[in-house]
Amino acid sequence: MIPEARCTRCGTPVRGAPGAPCLSLDCRTEAARRAVRVKAEARRGRALEALVAAGESAHGPWSTTPFNPARQVSVDPEQVEALRAQISTLAVAALLEDTRPARRARSDGRSGDLGHPASGAPGAESASPRARAVETAIATACAGCRGWCCRYGGRDGAHLSVATLRRAAREVREDGSDPSADDLTDLYLSYLGATHSEDGCLFHGDRGCRLPRDLRSEVCNAFLCGELLEVVAGWNRDGLGAGEHAFVAVSRADGRPRSVQSLAKAASKAD
Ligand code: SF4
Ligand code: SF4
Ligand SMILES: [Zn+2]
Repeated sequence: MIPEARCTRCGTPVRGAPGAPCLSLDCRTEAARRAVRVKAEARRGRALEALVAAGESAHGPWSTTPFNPARQVSVDPEQVEALRAQISTLAVAALLEDTRPARRARSDGRSGDLGHPASGAPGAESASPRARAVETAIATACAGCRGWCCRYGGRDGAHLSVATLRRAAREVREDGSDPSADDLTDLYLSYLGATHSEDGCLFHGDRGCRLPRDLRSEVCNAFLCGELLEVVAGWNRDGLGAGEHAFVAVSRADGRPRSVQSLAKAASKAD
């Protein structure tokens, strides 16, 4: 006789596979939570193995990031034309608004602290040593991840906005010229390469974002994924220096660790 399967939470007899919950909402929720936990633990276990295989201390602080597996593909001229139209519209609006009073003094709300991915946020030159250390840590993490979050920039015109184009116009004026909407549009498109990350942002090249920080959108300059937000919150809470941390980039598709980045190694290479 086949033994009767029972709900693992409440013990009610159930049909179906052993270990399955009964039909009660509480038992099904509990089972779903357990499945999520088991998966997260497995992911963390594999990440830890990758860390040790890379010669990193398993006792030091470490965390995971996403990983962008996308390959580089040729930039499609049709997509470029769509991007041109989009930037041009933003540029026209930005210049209209910006000439309203006289030209305002430069005040673009830069925080000069956290940025993304893989280099200093605008204004980072004036940031504190700690902000710079955090900046370096984030850049290291994002380099291992290869810009998972930049995939969305493809659907959204690199997240550019009227505010971004207004800021770009001011940058150009600082160098003494008075850009037209076409000038600004051409400036942006001049940073496109021959390839970009498949299905992602057109500016996402093989070594990260091709746009200089000053031309990137507010979203791009400020965004941090959930994983990095947690790490930075931890540093803020526990006062941990950003100087000792390793990041394991884990593919969200198959849960496999794909790269290990260590701040200690990054620093020793820079010496
Ligand atoms: S912010 Fe997160 S998702 Fe984006 S590049 Fe950095 S690690 Fe990857
Ligand atoms: S503009 Fe740069 S940072 Fe922003 S989504 Fe595109 S590649 Fe990423
Ligand atoms: Zn039950």
